[in-house]
Amino acid sequence: MKESFSLDALLRDNIRKLVPYSSARDEFKGEASVLLDANENAFGSPYSKNYNRYPDPLQHSLKDKLYEIKGVPPEQTFLGNGSDEAIDILFRAFCEPARDNVILVPPTYGMYEVSANINNVAYKKVNLTADYQLDLDGIAAAIDAHTKLIFICSPNNPTGNSIRRQDMETILVNFDGVVVIDEAYINFSKQPSFTKDLQEFPNLVVLQTLSKAWGLAALRLGMAFASPEIINVFNKIKPPYNINQATQEIVLDALQGVAQVNDWIKSTVAEREALTQALIKLPQVQHITPSDANFILVKLEEPRALYTYLVDLGIIVRDRSKVELCEGCLRFTIGTPAENALMLKAIAAFYSVVED
Ligand SMILES: *Cc1c(COP(=O)(O)O)cnc(C)c1O
Repeated sequence: MKESFSLDALLRDNIRKLVPYSSARDEFKGEASVLLDANENAFGSPYSKNYNRYPDPLQHSLKDKLYEIKGVPPEQTFLGNGSDEAIDILFRAFCEPARDNVILVPPTYGMYEVSANINNVAYKKVNLTADYQLDLDGIAAAIDAHTKLIFICSPNNPTGNSIRRQDMETILVNFDGVVVIDEAYINFSKQPSFTKDLQEFPNLVVLQTLSKAWGLAALRLGMAFASPEIINVFNKIKPPYNINQATQEIVLDALQGVAQVNDWIKSTVAEREALTQALIKLPQVQHITPSDANFILVKLEEPRALYTYLVDLGIIVRDRSKVELCEGCLRFTIGTPAENALMLKAIAAFYSVVED
């Protein structure tokens, strides 16, 4: 439980004072039959379906449906054009350019650093330990009066492991800024989501996405879950119609597919374990980090040569071999059983290992 937390003290002055854009549809209450308020085309759209009306700025139907699935009420849910939009809004809400700073714990998702750079916000890097866990002393030493955000990705990309829950709680309790826990891969993990702990930690923002387990990357729908106060700030800053009507409709439909998605998660986890077992038998494979995600980080011989060999076969994996603490590693996303078998065969062929 976090005893005291002042959101106002953390926000940038301009954001605290911001009067948000008020859209045409925000300004009337009641039933509408003639909409002549928003300069739309009243005739329709040159398409089989009409998209001539602006969409719901707060995506009420979608948030109600997500409440059933995630258990977080609409007033604690923000929807963005991918989680990347939520990451950008966090910087714009809390970090005064050229004054404030954030803490990143590499190796981790690259977008936090890019977003910091776009917003001209400094970051302090406190590397994960050799076993890819948080360096709590290092983080404590890095925090100063201008540190506003700490980004933690769990399960972590690109390493695949979960961060120890106890350590994340230690930071939530002791840090007076906002702790962002990015759960893009939580569906593949046995760890419980931090969305259950939002009441306990008013400084917690949990990020999730429909881009990974849910198979909806092209629609761009990311979620941020936090206190109603923080979500209000997000809603003030976001572009009024950030989630388009087509995405709202298609996602609402797709969210019926929980059973299908759960089947895919089971298959992916089974494939992840099978691929790990098969790869570790190759003498050229030195280490595989136990993964709670839909990818594995594999340390192996001649990573760059293997990477280009696979590319030539049309098999694209992620080369992380030059990343600090991931030296010599490639990251393999878990595909269909057929794709995984193809990749495994290609890797064995590269090392000229005869498969039994
Ligand atoms: C893939 C990924 C995301 C997802 O971003 P979207 O913009 O929602 O597609 C977020 N965080 C991490 C760590 C990721 O790996």
